[in-house]
Amino acid sequence: MRVLLVEDEHKIARALKKALEQESYAVDVAYDGDDGYAMATTEPYDVAIIDRMLPGSYDGIAIVKAMRTEKIHTPVLLLTALGSVEERTSGLDSGADDYMVKPFALEELLARVRALLRRPTEQQATILTAGDLSLNTITYEVKRGDTVIQLTGKEFALLEYMLRNQNRPLPKELIIGHVWDYDADILPNTVEVYIKYLRNKVDSPFATPLIHTVRGFGYKLQAGE
Ligand code: CA
Repeated sequence: MRVLLVEDEHKIARALKKALEQESYAVDVAYDGDDGYAMATTEPYDVAIIDRMLPGSYDGIAIVKAMRTEKIHTPVLLLTALGSVEERTSGLDSGADDYMVKPFALEELLARVRALLRRPTEQQATILTAGDLSLNTITYEVKRGDTVIQLTGKEFALLEYMLRNQNRPLPKELIIGHVWDYDADILPNTVEVYIKYLRNKVDSPFATPLIHTVRGFGYKLQAGE
């Protein structure tokens, strides 16, 4: 899952990026409103965490409004130092999905991000499945049947993305866009390498393969025909 973080306070941005990366998210950071707006409206993010007060011609609210005007429905968590009822209301009125007042506990922020990520697809379940494969987005447990599979952070992120988008062919470029961050120098070839790692762990030891190659296009995760 790819996260956009727009935060001008470098110390906070660094701490958040680190915490999010430990949860296997790919994280891009923008340090002012203009970069934040440009990235939010051009790159495919799964969730955006946007500080309200930002230098530049866009503050947090203006970025969210612009995103919604441009029909970009990426879930947004707005961060702010202002905590009054009116501030909260105007934040949510702008089109943000959730609102957190600084200072906050990192654990709570991570929980809110997880909640935003599962909102559009499934309401409660944190376990994604395909056939006998299951992936728990909270405990990071991956299993086929009763067999536990150990994955690295990047392999987990790739499998989670494919599970959330199962039964449809995913071009390599789209996979790169959602699983790796902007700074990572990723070639389509890298996706092939990681798919191979995943297949070795998720498919090879088992009777039925779940990861399918779509020739000249990309990959598809599908159980059964
Ligand atoms: Ca700020």
